[in-house]
Amino acid sequence: MIKNSHMGRIPYTIDDIYGMTLVSDDGCWEWMGGYGGPRHKRRPVIHQRYGSHWAYEHWVGPIPDGAHILHSCDNNRCINPDHLRPDTNYANIIDMMEHGRHATAQFTPDEVRALRARKWKRGEMAAYARERGITQTTLSDMLRGRTYRWVA
Ligand SMILES: [Zn+2]
Repeated sequence: MIKNSHMGRIPYTIDDIYGMTLVSDDGCWEWMGGYGGPRHKRRPVIHQRYGSHWAYEHWVGPIPDGAHILHSCDNNRCINPDHLRPDTNYANIIDMMEHGRHATAQFTPDEVRALRARKWKRGEMAAYARERGITQTTLSDMLRGRTYRWVA
């Protein structure tokens, strides 16, 4: 949920939404309604979601889990579904992280915490690394905090 900076009529009808966009020369549908999100990255907000996400799901289809929505027009005010596409690379990375298969993202933060808290017995690290399809160095670097430093 995103805090809406604009106390407009909610929920909007589709006609409201069309009425709140301004079509630019590039064919962008610039959102004239509320904006929200981090101060320096204000983005359209529709029904308490980012406008690009709402527009994509409304006119195109479901967004892959965890994907960002990119603008082919580079116009963050735009909600024209023709200009929106999910960032599938990003979605793939998330997918791989969740399955522990990616070379640079083998562990989720929760796993890092759990594995660091675990008392490892002799041979267990090698067995665990084999089971996960990672090297023992990858595992011990993470456990010793040489990697995943940002996980507290
Ligand atoms: Zn656009």
